Amino acid sequence: MAKKMWVVVALIALYAGTVSAQDAKAKLQAAVKAMGDVQSIQYSGSGKLDTFGQSYTPTAAWPVTNITSYTKTIDYASKSAKEELTRVEPNPPVKGGGRPFGGEDKQVNFVSGSFAWDQPGNAPVPQLGAAAERQLQIWLSPNGFLKAALENNATMRKGTVGSVISFKTGKFTVNGTIDADNMVTRTETWLPNPVLGDMPVETVYSGYKDFGGVKFPTSIVQSQGGFPVLELTVTNVKANPGLSVSVPDAVKTASAPPVRVVSQKLGDGVWFMGGGSHNSVLVEFPTYLAMIEAPLGDARSMAVMAEAHRLVPDKPIKYLINTHHHFDHFGGVRAYVAAGATIITNEMNVASYQKIFAAPHTLDPDELAKNPKKAEFIPVKGKYVLTEADRSIEIYRVEGDMHNGDIMMAYLPKDKILVEADDFTPDAPGVPAPTGPRPKMFEDNLKKQLLRLKLDVATIAPLHGVVVPFSDFQKAVGD
Ligand SMILES: [Zn+2]
Repeated sequence: MAKKMWVVVALIALYAGTVSAQDAKAKLQAAVKAMGDVQSIQYSGSGKLDTFGQSYTPTAAWPVTNITSYTKTIDYASKSAKEELTRVEPNPPVKGGGRPFGGEDKQVNFVSGSFAWDQPGNAPVPQLGAAAERQLQIWLSPNGFLKAALENNATMRKGTVGSVISFKTGKFTVNGTIDADNMVTRTETWLPNPVLGDMPVETVYSGYKDFGGVKFPTSIVQSQGGFPVLELTVTNVKANPGLSVSVPDAVKTASAPPVRVVSQKLGDGVWFMGGGSHNSVLVEFPTYLAMIEAPLGDARSMAVMAEAHRLVPDKPIKYLINTHHHFDHFGGVRAYVAAGATIITNEMNVASYQKIFAAPHTLDPDELAKNPKKAEFIPVKGKYVLTEADRSIEIYRVEGDMHNGDIMMAYLPKDKILVEADDFTPDAPGVPAPTGPRPKMFEDNLKKQLLRLKLDVATIAPLHGVVVPFSDFQKAVGD
């Protein structure tokens, strides 16, 4: 009886799901015929580029910048692509993160096989970490999806609004929907992200038009982590323009720089943990350690924690103070949870962090995925003081901040040190002073906060850039 039941269940599944490679192939070939068989494609237009991981609050969409011109060229046979865009900041500026750039920001990026680089100027800048995603983006494009599906033994099932074709490329699963007119209307995959884990990447294609014998969508909207990252209105499409890309030698020979932590003693039991693009500050209490900020991801956190234990071998890192939820400042928090630290963050973040921490990290398992633990939080409203004997850290909400709605700063009263993120970045190499709609907006607000809280600051230990005397900040705000 049980056996019969299983046979029935299997038959129903077969009819409902129709897992047939043969059907998939026929549907894909019909779509290639309907859309046009191209070896390369170029599409251009304008739209919006949204700054991923830099929302104003933890549940808000990514902040928008405007793309004034956009062109992408893809050559499928050589697995190469070139993306060129010019963007401007909206005026008045939107709330949220991302580096203020003022004027125009021109981006040119490439992928060719397993190599990726940016080349907005003359010198190529290798982007080792971007290669897998940029390569995958080729197969998420409408024509690329059909080619990759035909090459990778795709299967097909009936979806709610068309046929859903699925295949695997490397460790990535790609699904795409082909509608009754044999147009690709949607693709989806998942990419590893230090914060979100297996992060959904969805692209919706609509408004198909005929461009000289090739059908192509006039609207492309890609979302990552649930919110749009690219919203494009396509006005021009060229079939088979070709793309000749040669990988620059500097890109071929590039290797990932090792994670470097350089500690700098700022006072008795206080160390600035620099050496990379993002800093942390280690504070020693009589019986434990507290770390301010866990940026980037697991690799940085493990290296910073190792340096902390080298400096102070016999005390546990009991607290991790997280200034704000922007992904570049939040990506390393999970490693501290795995190490048993309690997270001190704005009360606005706690529910989101709990939800985010529960997401699966199967594509790139981190310490917490390998060693699951429940995160413990101390939520902060306006002010929280971490104290033991004569050592304390005062944590304050930075009110009225346009960069981030939940951002906090830390003040060490004994040493008169202010630790702040993103509001004042002294001497970060290669970062020109911003102009345009929001110059000095963050610095001016920070100054207001220091006056409001009557903080007596002698030194600024910023979470980007280098340690400076307070007089440098005064100069920056024109005092
Ligand atoms: Zn930020």
